[in-house]
Amino acid sequence: MEKNTLCLATNNAHKAEELQSLLGDAFEIKTLKDIGCLEDIEETGNTFVENSMIKAGYVFRKYGMNVLADDSGLEVNALGGRPGVYSARYAGEPSDATANNRKLMKEMEGVTDRTARFRTVITLILEGETHTFDGEVSGRIKETFDGEEGFGYNPVFIPDGFETTFHDMGFEQRSRLNHRGRAMAKVLDFLARRNTPEV
Ligand code: IMP
Repeated sequence: MEKNTLCLATNNAHKAEELQSLLGDAFEIKTLKDIGCLEDIEETGNTFVENSMIKAGYVFRKYGMNVLADDSGLEVNALGGRPGVYSARYAGEPSDATANNRKLMKEMEGVTDRTARFRTVITLILEGETHTFDGEVSGRIKETFDGEEGFGYNPVFIPDGFETTFHDMGFEQRSRLNHRGRAMAKVLDFLARRNTPEV
């Protein structure tokens, strides 16, 4: 097993770049494409934990590598936690953020409880051992959506303590505040402790 290589089970170059900058020299990040995994890993689970484990487990079994996989989505309280694991394709295939936001706004018409949260679960398989980390950020769904194009539900989500949506925030502030940033802070803390010799 290549100890210092970590596969990030995604083809999202942006996520890979973000993670590489957080990890520094400790690990070399490779995407699915980098390791020659071109097939679509089907996310058949009903929870974020299941889906992140499916993705990480697939790469570990097939390639025997250290791997990190994340699964995330938006949970809206008034909708019983929907869209949840169906966040990417809420308005159907293919995945379309603007259509998803329009569908969400339609369902939220006249709804006064607009509370929601983004959640992410990260599964890390390191030297054959599985570890999971979670992160979440609470907020509310905006009253209006003007068709702004942004990543996922960022244009309609206002985090607690702010008056602006994630879409209107700077990259650095959003990355620190959001569910993925919070879960990744736990991963980094775990890796740092592991590398610190006991005294
Ligand atoms: P993934 O599991 O990280 O690929 O996320 C699944 C879907 O959840 C995305 O396609 C988005 O619709 C939504 N989502 C996840 N994270 C975010 C975020 O940080 N901002 C906005 N939408 C997100």
